[in-house]
Parts: sequence; C-alpha cells; structure tokens
Amino acid sequence: MSKVLVVEDDPVVQAALVHALTDLGHVVQAVGTAVAALREAGTSELDLIILDLGLPDLDGVAALRMLRGVSNVPVIVATARGAESSVVSTLNAGADDYIVKPFSAEHLAARINALLRRTGTAGPAGSADLVALGELRIDLAQRAATLGDTALALSRREFDMLTYLAQRPGRVISRRELIQAVWGNPYVGDDKTIDVHASWLRRKLGETAAHPRYLHTVRGVGFKLAAPE
Ligand code: CA
Repeated sequence: MSKVLVVEDDPVVQAALVHALTDLGHVVQAVGTAVAALREAGTSELDLIILDLGLPDLDGVAALRMLRGVSNVPVIVATARGAESSVVSTLNAGADDYIVKPFSAEHLAARINALLRRTGTAGPAGSADLVALGELRIDLAQRAATLGDTALALSRREFDMLTYLAQRPGRVISRRELIQAVWGNPYVGDDKTIDVHASWLRRKLGETAAHPRYLHTVRGVGFKLAAPE
C-alpha cells in the first residue's frame, strides 16, 4: 500500500484515477492545481505523484521543477500530448516516468508497480534493514537514526544523505553522486543545496566542519562518512 497524490484538474479523469488507484489498494489524495500539489508534496509523506501536465495554474514542466524543489517523491506524468518534445522536457525536469492519456487502469498499475519497485518504496524488500558505523545506527525500515543513546531528528533528505554515505563507509562520494542519490536524477538545482544539508546533518551529529568525527568534507570533491578513529 502506497500513498499516492493525484494531480488532475478534470473532475471526471480525477475521479476515475482515484477509483482505479483505490481499487489497486493505494491510499489516494487528489488535488486539481499545481499549487495545491506543491503544498501537499511539501507537507505530507507521499510515495508517488501522478501529475497531469495540463493544469490550470502552472505549466507542467514548471510545476515539476517546483515539485522537485520540495520533494524527491517519484512522479509519473500523465499527458494527453503525444509530442516527444514535451515528454523529453518533463523527464528532464524530473519526472520518473510518463503515461499518455487515455490509459487503462491496468497500464497505470503496471507503470506504478515498476516505478515503486525501481525506487525501492514498494515495501520491505527483505534487505539488510540496519546500517551501523561506529556508534551510529540507522534503521532503514523505521527511517530512524541514533548516535549512541541519542535519537537523531533528521529531515527526510538528511536521513537519505546519511544513509547513502553510511552504506559506503570511508568512500569519498562526490556531490554529484550524492545529489543524484538523495534528490533524484536529473536534478536541476545547484551544489550549494547539498552543502547546506550537509552542514545541517553535521550539526545534528554534534560536530563541526573544523572538527569532524563522522562526516568529512573532502574539499573540491564531496563527502565521506567514517567511524571516528
Ligand atoms: Ca488537465
């Protein structure tokens, strides 16, 4: 079961989508504007967004770019336009997949399942759920991290960043790789974003750039996470 946000201004199409997705066992919310979608994506934990490209308030590509600014949730773009250029530009703007209207519920279900499988949000895959490094413990299933006895209050991106680094201990990870892992690919922002998140994460780990314990900045390259000596 996944939480799906449907962004569709046509009430008939919206109702059909909600019906089909609910039938598939998803928890579904629906909105009719890009602004409402941005608000939802910024405030609730979603597993997937289905985004209509022809919304009344914002162009689909612009909506997608703004969405990517607040969330790395997988997005399937639903488009009536068959034009290859619009598909390419939405994929470049951060869509994970697209589906051309009109589509059947079965077709949509297949796309959703493939995407959720690919992005690892289809549920517990039975993989190693615990990452440990020094006194750091990351519970992937619970999305919880502790350092010694202290629970770390991490944002979603901080958690994803910490996890990605902790799963590759001692390895220098470039900003580009980290951005792709945490924000998704393609990413349209600039590298400053990652430095800001790294500094927030570092503060929550109780350390400073000048005196790192776990999180090390490798100047001009990226970051690495390692257990203190
Ligand atoms: Ca529309």
